[in-house]
Amino acid sequence: MRSPIRNEIKIEEERRANKLFIFLFFVSVILYDVYRFIISPLIDPDTTMILLNESKALIPLMIIYAIEFSLIPISRWYSKRQQPFATKYLFFVVFMTTALVTEIFRYIGTDEMYASGSPVELFFVLFSPLFVNKRFYITVVAGITGKYAIMGFLTMSPIVVFPILILLLFSGITFIILNRFQSYLNTIVKSYEQAAHNEKLAFIGRIATGVTHEIKNPLTSLKGFVQLQELEQTYNPKYSKIMLQELERLTIIVNDLMVIGKPQSINLKPISLTNCLEYVVSLLQQEAENKQITIYTNFPEEQVQIMGEDVRLKQVFLNLVKNAMEAMPDGGEIRLKLVNDGDWTTIHIMDRGVGIAEEGIPHLDQAFYTTKENGTGLGLMVSYKIVEDHHGKIDVHSEVNHGTTFSISFPILSHSLDNTVVNLASYQGNKEHTL
Ligand code: ADP
Ligand code: MG
Repeated sequence: MRSPIRNEIKIEEERRANKLFIFLFFVSVILYDVYRFIISPLIDPDTTMILLNESKALIPLMIIYAIEFSLIPISRWYSKRQQPFATKYLFFVVFMTTALVTEIFRYIGTDEMYASGSPVELFFVLFSPLFVNKRFYITVVAGITGKYAIMGFLTMSPIVVFPILILLLFSGITFIILNRFQSYLNTIVKSYEQAAHNEKLAFIGRIATGVTHEIKNPLTSLKGFVQLQELEQTYNPKYSKIMLQELERLTIIVNDLMVIGKPQSINLKPISLTNCLEYVVSLLQQEAENKQITIYTNFPEEQVQIMGEDVRLKQVFLNLVKNAMEAMPDGGEIRLKLVNDGDWTTIHIMDRGVGIAEEGIPHLDQAFYTTKENGTGLGLMVSYKIVEDHHGKIDVHSEVNHGTTFSISFPILSHSLDNTVVNLASYQGNKEHTL
């Protein structure tokens, strides 16, 4: 598991544990007070005196409640600052300090017999495994034992031995629970990490196999032609042409792999999408003509600007228009339409080609997915990655044997069209390139 994710999960779990902990804390504090101030005096009239005595303690009791309730907003504040881990210590330290102070006031300098403290202390011991944190567990056990040791010393009463013994008994039990929790959790985390590691290795394996396969073909044919040239001892321009083509293919593969392999920081600045598209169209013009393909464009009169990186966007459009051309081996039409629509600027690239089967669509953004004999299956993956880096999205609509539309949308920067949506039917009237 990557450590930032692990940290986030830890924080989220701690927040959940905190909620339960705070709830249980107040339930046990309030139940204990209801018991000692209301139920116990009602059942046992002998304790009426104590009740009267305790009523003097009503003001300090209210102050303690006020302090304890004020811990809720404080713990929320810590939680918001990604530090929910402080809450449990906060509650424990405040509770123990107020308990110690009240007990000192109550027993020191009086002849009242020291009676052991509150069951809320047991709550802390019993529920400390909620946090699966040994440090907190030790703090709780040491803190409570320490309080009894101090009170035993101050009041000179050996009676504190009993609560300490009970405490040690309970803490022994919770220690076992805590240990089980921790070892169980460690096992889960370890197996999760192992699985993630294996998945990573499998992914690297898949990439390596794909790359090897892709690179091997052009290399084999290059080697063959070099050997042939050596055998024939002559320069054959036909071979050189094929060799150059194969070298070109290797360059494309390596360039594409660089985009996925190395996360590059992209430098977004306002650029003209119109210029970018026109450049790509002009670049492919000759090739389209050779294949009897006509490219129509329908762009708004005004330049459409987005935040982007020119070179990378050109690469995306080049990939998509090339795919459209490759989808029409017998020629046809490709239409490029640029539309400002609400918060998005969208480029539709439509062809009347072979289309994509429904089961192929989920694989389009995957490396090495190709249905072409000489395809690399990298172009779309790289395009998706670049568009994602531009905070954009790609939608695909396709029908087998009818054609495909790729729609690439980017968050709008400025559009001077006043929300005029360019109508698809207005191809003829608009600025039109027939290439
Ligand atoms: P490549 O072009 O090397 O095959 P891409 O990643 O560019 O790799 O495309 C992956 C696959 O997606 C193609 O092999 C093809 O099957 C399908 N595809 C992409 N664009 C189109 C399109 N316009 N029409 C039909 N199929 C397409
Ligand atoms: Mg392609």
